[in-house]
Amino acid sequence: MANLVQKYIDIAKEKNANEPEFLQTVEEVLTSIEPVLEAHPEYIEAGLIERLIEPERGIMFRVPWVDDNGKVQVNRGYRFEFNSALGPYKGGLRFAPNVYPGILKFLGFEQIFKNSLTGLPIGGGKGGSDFDPNGKSDGEIMRFCQSFITELYRHIGPNTDVPAGDLGVGGREIGYMMGQYKRITNQYDGTWTGKGTSNGGLAGRTEATGYGIVFYAREMLKHFGEELKGKTVAISGFGNVSWGTAKKLTELGAKVITISGPDGYILDEEGVSGEKIDYLLELRGSGKNICSPYAEKFPGSKFFAGKKPWEVKADLYIPCATQNEIHMEDAQTMVANGCKFLCEGANMPTTNEAIAYLQENGVVVGPSKAANAGGVACSCLEMSQNAEHIIFSEEDVYRQLEGIMVNIFKLSVDACERYNLGDNLIAGANIAGFERVAEAMMMQGIV
Ligand code: GLU
Repeated sequence: MANLVQKYIDIAKEKNANEPEFLQTVEEVLTSIEPVLEAHPEYIEAGLIERLIEPERGIMFRVPWVDDNGKVQVNRGYRFEFNSALGPYKGGLRFAPNVYPGILKFLGFEQIFKNSLTGLPIGGGKGGSDFDPNGKSDGEIMRFCQSFITELYRHIGPNTDVPAGDLGVGGREIGYMMGQYKRITNQYDGTWTGKGTSNGGLAGRTEATGYGIVFYAREMLKHFGEELKGKTVAISGFGNVSWGTAKKLTELGAKVITISGPDGYILDEEGVSGEKIDYLLELRGSGKNICSPYAEKFPGSKFFAGKKPWEVKADLYIPCATQNEIHMEDAQTMVANGCKFLCEGANMPTTNEAIAYLQENGVVVGPSKAANAGGVACSCLEMSQNAEHIIFSEEDVYRQLEGIMVNIFKLSVDACERYNLGDNLIAGANIAGFERVAEAMMMQGIV
């Protein structure tokens, strides 16, 4: 059977040679679903894996816009509609200079299993652009978003493909894109999630990803006989996800001691709490993409230029910045510092090599597909709010979110038990996510 999985990995390598991020997730997922394939030869017969690793559709387009100096700029726009077995394609848009098909395909592929784990009717997709929002004026952001949607609008819709935010895309960008979409289509519908609350958005959506991560981390610790209260936590990033994570961790009695940005990390032994948490949003909103001003504003905290927070000793690590921020040498430092728990907040923050090392050394790793699924789960609540023309209350959203996260953890542990995987929560989540998609794909024939 190992040969069979290797065959699929080789097919993926041959077809996507210059896309290491996509190949990384394909390898991780396929390796862990091997026992399911062994139990279901009919999946192999149906070419299910060959179909699963190929996006249903990929769209690439030109995005021309005029900057504040009157100069014409041209970016590339993309949408990878990966899998619609469980529902309309669902996933965010990422605007960042390093965006290219390999990154969006890794995110779109992961989104299939993440969305499946939520138990909700959503397929997987992802899109974005190599546009860099840092340092751009509000007018430039608006003109870019309008141009982006002037092409993408024809490919999306409430029952077709429902985009949301991701890195570089928040409520403001979603608002501009939704406005232009509405203008072109004359439809005020649930095509967008992550909208502002005065714009049809869901109460609590901004916090949802971070809160969900903490609910997952709480379940993970509980499962191993520990609790969040009194724990020190090292997190990375200083955006939306880190903000929501820090807020909920503090509320549940844990102490957040680090945040990070591309310029380095902040160590705040007194804890990133109270007004300091909201300062993260101010930092992010400054458009400078640096976290060093935190140390000037809050004396007592220290800034370490060019370093990552993984060198700090903590009870729990939650990477919330971006993909591949924990490499082998970081994993080695963490293990040497006695690390027991890692809960992935960002999508695929740990390299496969680092995961293997952490797991071999007894570290429990909660995978991002499961831990950060609260964001997209709440996006689905936003879709249903829009479809029903009602408004959910914040309490209602948090209650549903908590239930979904507890269930995701249970599903993963259950898959670990069924397939004798011990504490391998990564394999458990991959299997539980895969099973639902595979069953639906089988019912829909060879499409
Ligand atoms: N970008 C988020 C994620 O990685 C949210 C996607 C969505 O809400 O559709 O899951």
